[in-house]
Amino acid sequence: MVIHEYAGIITELDDRNCPHCGKQLEPWLAPPESGWNVILVCNNNSCTFYIGSEEDIAHKREDSHLGCRYAEDPDNKYKPMNVLAVCPH
Ligand SMILES: [Zn+2]
Repeated sequence: MVIHEYAGIITELDDRNCPHCGKQLEPWLAPPESGWNVILVCNNNSCTFYIGSEEDIAHKREDSHLGCRYAEDPDNKYKPMNVLAVCPH
């Protein structure tokens, strides 16, 4: 069980592991404009999903350093989805 607390709102989330790297997903409060609540994100910079996505996007915009992290939406039966993130390298 993972507990996420923000602004007095406590969200209880199941323990979930990334299917690409096996690392435990971490709770993250998405920006309001995204329409998501608290989601679970793989923050592993060595994740194969993350590294692979960086190359996909780099072909489209060479000046950007954006990649897609693997995430799941607890509000939608832990449906897999992509979260755009800035690559640190
Ligand atoms: Zn991963």
